[in-house]
Amino acid sequence: MKLRIRTDCPSFYSDLCDVLRLFYGDVTVEDCSGQEVVPGDDLFDHALTVEGDVWVDRWRSGGHAAERRTPVCHGHPLEVKRMRKRAAKAGLYDLLVEITGVRPPWGSLTGIRPTRLYYEGVEMGLSRDAAVARVIREFDVSPDRAALLAEIAAMQEGILRPADGEFDLYIGIPFCTTRCSYCSFASGEIGDGRLVAPYVDALAREIQLCGAMIRERGLKLRAGYVGGGTPTAIPCADLDRILTEAQRAFPGAVEWTVEAGRPDTIDAEKLTMLRAHGVGRISVNPQTFSDETLVRIGRRHSGADTVRAYELARRMGFDDINMDLIAALPGETPEVFSCTLDRVIELDPQSVTVHSLAIKRSSRLHEKLHVESGGHAPAAQSGAAEMIAMARRRLTAGGWKPYYLYRQKYMAGNLENVGYAKPGRACLYNIGNMEETASVLALGAGAITKWLYDREANVPEAEVEALRFANLQLRIERAPNVRNVEQYIARVDEMVARKRALIFPEEAKR
Ligand code: SF4
Repeated sequence: MKLRIRTDCPSFYSDLCDVLRLFYGDVTVEDCSGQEVVPGDDLFDHALTVEGDVWVDRWRSGGHAAERRTPVCHGHPLEVKRMRKRAAKAGLYDLLVEITGVRPPWGSLTGIRPTRLYYEGVEMGLSRDAAVARVIREFDVSPDRAALLAEIAAMQEGILRPADGEFDLYIGIPFCTTRCSYCSFASGEIGDGRLVAPYVDALAREIQLCGAMIRERGLKLRAGYVGGGTPTAIPCADLDRILTEAQRAFPGAVEWTVEAGRPDTIDAEKLTMLRAHGVGRISVNPQTFSDETLVRIGRRHSGADTVRAYELARRMGFDDINMDLIAALPGETPEVFSCTLDRVIELDPQSVTVHSLAIKRSSRLHEKLHVESGGHAPAAQSGAAEMIAMARRRLTAGGWKPYYLYRQKYMAGNLENVGYAKPGRACLYNIGNMEETASVLALGAGAITKWLYDREANVPEAEVEALRFANLQLRIERAPNVRNVEQYIARVDEMVARKRALIFPEEAKR
């Protein structure tokens, strides 16, 4: 399917495309802004006027029209831009609801952090109930989803925020035994393993150089997370070396997580090594307990392998284990998903992360669906909403509480990913990373460092209050590492230099 958009706000083109994709899935959208075009049902036409102190966003498509009136914002330019974008998107959303009769669970929200909007209301001085009501009223979020935001915020209350001078660490190991059909990560099959040794050498160098930089700046690690890929896919000695280097370079973390991930990569030798490094939290990820599905999605292990790996880890003393599940995997019905939930609840891990399948363009599954559907991969898989609701109901009843949430593009049914944890078992790294309350130093191919600054430092005194009100007091800068493993190995010093520019911004100004 191909759609066209013509807007008076062309700088918001990609955000407007995101709104179209809430309703039409992964469609191609042509930008016709500023052009004479032939009208048609595929054209979404936007005109912005200012009437007195009101922005009027008028949208038309075919015989349908919608009009959104929003008070003009007079704040900081960043705030004005944010409110303008919100108004343009809301107008298009109104039109699409009118055309399709569909109301997505997260309403007009297309961002990955809906909790932000709840916190925005709280920072405006609203009560919990009023902040929930505002999210429903302004963004058409379903009452159920808005209540979930409040539940998550309640869970996050009292969980340690990073102190001044603290940061979190991410280390990426971009290798897996096989590539899952839905995978869009910067991860490849380990194959003959020829890239592992040079990768580990490069990563060790990045760790050492960044460690020196962090010491020079006087910062301290709070939580470390080794992800991927599948960190346990590489030989035990290599992962041991990475952890040794990391804990030498960044001592004193209060939490270490290693995504053991694929059960077929977990054995007693690796678990012993992880224990020796004081790794307290690991993931053993079934995704599903259906062996048919596991074959279908290209994972080379069975449900029984997951149980074996999990029980081995338990016997060896791991008492903080996470399990990842995915709802709406190809061919799975709510009944199959329910059986997976049965097994997980029986195994009783400390945390469970429930994902909605997201079929990104770089995945094999996207390619397959794209061909099968004649070029249109739908965003919604049947049953996804039922499975996500079932997980929430059953996990909550079993004592797990939702503690972080994020959304991705192209998710099944426009739903969400939610991390559930037993009391006291929420992962600090996950909260800091998802809520962007912690700077994250990220090492390895494809890892993206995010550094938080106090925006007030660069803002005139008179505007500080407006920014604080709008939850914009933090400025976040990013430094991505290259995704390609060979490029990363060749350019590791350049990756370190990118991070230095964030950690020592004063040097860049000289
Ligand atoms: S285990 Fe994760 S990173 Fe590895 S192929 Fe599967 S989805 Fe991708």
